Amino acid sequence: MTYRYKIKPTKQLFRQFDQYLDICRSVYNFAHAERKAWLESRKSRMDCCSILCEYIIAADAPFPSYKNQAKALTEAKKKFPHLKLVNAQTLQQVLKRLDKAWSDFFKIPDRGFPRFRSKNRFRSFVFPQLLKNCLDQRKVKLPSIGWITIRQSRPYPIGFTPKQFQIVKKASGYYLMIVFQSHEVVPDAIPGEKSLGIDAGISNFIATSNQELIKSPRFLRSKLKKFKKLQRKLKNKTKHSNNWLKLQNKIARFHEKISNARRDWLFKLAHHLCNQTDNIFVEDINYKSWSKGLFRKQSLDSGIGSFMNEILPFICWKKNKFYLKVDKDYSSQQCPNCRLFTGQKLLKQRLHICPYCNIEIDRDIASSLILKQRGKTAVGQPVGYQEIACGGRGAGVLQFTLFDLVTA
Ligand SMILES: [Zn+2]
Repeated sequence: MTYRYKIKPTKQLFRQFDQYLDICRSVYNFAHAERKAWLESRKSRMDCCSILCEYIIAADAPFPSYKNQAKALTEAKKKFPHLKLVNAQTLQQVLKRLDKAWSDFFKIPDRGFPRFRSKNRFRSFVFPQLLKNCLDQRKVKLPSIGWITIRQSRPYPIGFTPKQFQIVKKASGYYLMIVFQSHEVVPDAIPGEKSLGIDAGISNFIATSNQELIKSPRFLRSKLKKFKKLQRKLKNKTKHSNNWLKLQNKIARFHEKISNARRDWLFKLAHHLCNQTDNIFVEDINYKSWSKGLFRKQSLDSGIGSFMNEILPFICWKKNKFYLKVDKDYSSQQCPNCRLFTGQKLLKQRLHICPYCNIEIDRDIASSLILKQRGKTAVGQPVGYQEIACGGRGAGVLQFTLFDLVTA
């Protein structure tokens, strides 16, 4: 589990953190350049004249792998003493991070080639090994830096040991992320009695088989006006001037605020859903490709993908609820009442109207009911035939907005 705390600002500490980031970034970029140069140098052809093409790096030079670079780093410290200002393990972690970016590029399809990092793209560093008794009330002991004061917004979890510190720079200041670990084995949740199917809706954020339609939180769109105004202002300023930087910072803070609000809402929603049920069934969708298509705008500022794939399973795990992804195919084309396939619906068609059993129900709710039935079948539970409370036109459907949930 990761807990996040804000670090109380003192000028000297922040200067030290800034320095840490600068040094880590320079190591990252240097190591990246080294790898890139090696790769480039292998591109010359065997049969080329040496005037045109030449090995820049000796043909038998080994690839600058993590191991080689870590060794070189130790050597480099003798020549460049400023590298010693940073905790040794923190610097090694930087090389590991680069190594991972490279191996991910070769392993994972669609992953971009690693890039050089500007100040904006390098905002965190890690202490992978901690000192003993490094936590105290409202303060934390960092290796090679010492005690720092934090705003302890919530108590540390009991029965867990801190494993790792990460310092992250955000628009509103520096934050400390503590990774806690427990050696207790958590058994996987087993399916319980009550089930809930959840479908990512088109005009709603989600629809549930308990007949709830929850509206998409349009944080970004409602604040777009203010946002556009700020960005218009930015155009009139000279780039990199003092006022330009100030405004940049203001925009970044605005962004942070919105993403915090969104995250908070998503967690509340996950708790709201978990409290109703024992089992949760969702569609097995690749939300990344989904958000590229038709539903781009809605899904981008609502964060449906991270909700379904990260937040919801995490809350289920915490609350010991059963979470399962079920087959998504034709979930919107089947009738939840008589199970017959009713064919494809147009996007604008809001209701599911079955020509066989004459039921009328919201289309998103209908597909969430299908998901629930498929989930129950998958865990070997009987599927009852009287699952739909009332079949009227939208009757019995609860429509929620953000504020209903937040005040609830
Ligand atoms: Zn039907």
